[in-house]
Amino acid sequence: MSENIPHVLILGGGFGGLSAANEIRKSLPSFKVKITVIDKKDWFMVGFAKLWIMNGTRTFENSIGFLKELEKKDIDFIKEEILQIDLQNKTVKTSTQNLSYDFLIIAMGATLAPEKISGLTQYGMNLYDHNELSKINQKLNEIKSGNIAIAIMGMPYKCPPAPFEAALLINSMLNQLGKRQSIQIHFYSPAPITLPAAGPEVSQQILDLVNSEKIFFHDSSKTISVEKNKLIFENDKANFDLLLAIPPHVVPDVIIKCGLAKEGGFIKINRDCKTPFENVFAVGDVTSLPVGEKFAVPKAGIFAEGEGITVAKNIVSKIQSKDDSALFDGIGGCFIESGRNTASLIEVDMFSESKPTTKLTESSKEHLDEKLQFEKDRITNWL
Ligand SMILES: Cc1cc2nc3c(=O)[nH]c(=O)nc-3n(C[C@H](O)[C@H](O)[C@H](O)COP(=O)(O)OP(=O)(O)OC[C@H]3O[C@@H](n4cnc5c(N)ncnc54)[C@H](O)[C@@H]3O)c2cc1C
Repeated sequence: MSENIPHVLILGGGFGGLSAANEIRKSLPSFKVKITVIDKKDWFMVGFAKLWIMNGTRTFENSIGFLKELEKKDIDFIKEEILQIDLQNKTVKTSTQNLSYDFLIIAMGATLAPEKISGLTQYGMNLYDHNELSKINQKLNEIKSGNIAIAIMGMPYKCPPAPFEAALLINSMLNQLGKRQSIQIHFYSPAPITLPAAGPEVSQQILDLVNSEKIFFHDSSKTISVEKNKLIFENDKANFDLLLAIPPHVVPDVIIKCGLAKEGGFIKINRDCKTPFENVFAVGDVTSLPVGEKFAVPKAGIFAEGEGITVAKNIVSKIQSKDDSALFDGIGGCFIESGRNTASLIEVDMFSESKPTTKLTESSKEHLDEKLQFEKDRITNWL
């Protein structure tokens, strides 16, 4: 143990990393445990704020909190790229230093990989990349007529309802700009239903919602490549004037290099979020947590947060020489904004039975207020 107190090193300052860091510090003061968070960027943003930057109701600057604020709570923050994880020697190499740990929490999220779809970076825009949102907003303002394509290009991807929410917000934006009649919105997904993780009933409700706004959902459309103004699917083609893509998601390279996941996969965990290495845990989008034979916990901030809290509790127990027995409960929810100043909530219980149970609530102004509060709570409580 470094400096005679244990060192918890947290890789990634997103939902999983920040919930874990805060939960540990809430339970143990700085003379009992040293906590360090490393991230290559120095800010945190709740994922759904990206869609507000996309539709022009928010700016990037008004949507972030700064990770250096962690230091107010005696949580060290290092803004550097993580280059290597050495699980045998219990060290992590960044751009300028080697850090040793007693406990390691890997919360590095999923990496967006638009380069995996030929032509995408040249002819399409990445809806999930914060760097592209202002440009997307500009394009949405400029387009006068034609087809907007929203295409999911790989499974699993972050926040399954978010692309549908994007379609609904774009629909509303185009209505307000008075040009919706001249523009068609087409939604392409490789899945057979809108939200496989939420089951057929909720999927049908989401389909009804998008259909009611004349957004055309095309199922089983697996994108192979993109050409100028053309999407090429396994069995079909479609023209577009503006392409907004949800690119394939992959595990960060350093995770493959340290052997915790294979190419094309994520770190496999159970509900205790342990890896095969003692005192090394993984949480959030960087992981794959199966539910029964057919399902997995979706990639969502609310679940990364729950896993972060679970791991934090187990680390605190271990430091206090108690049993480490907390299990991630799999309970969460995702808001889906209608574009009519209301939102509904998809309530999820991943482990209630042998398969997940989900319920879609009524769309209401109250749920939209809860969504705003959800963001405010994370930024103010964590940073
Ligand atoms: C448009 C959109 C809407 C969404 N809406 C919702 C929603 O309504 N509800 C919900 O629950 N979730 C939502 N999400 C999903 C949510 O944002 C993610 O699931 C969540 O951020 C995952 O948390 P995480 O901690 O696993 O990873 P992240 O939050 O992605 O954090 C990972 C961190 O690791 C850092 N990192 C990665 N590699 C390195 C490296 N080599 N060196 C240094 N740092 C590194 C990254 O910079 C990042 O800060 C949405 C996402 C998007 C894009």
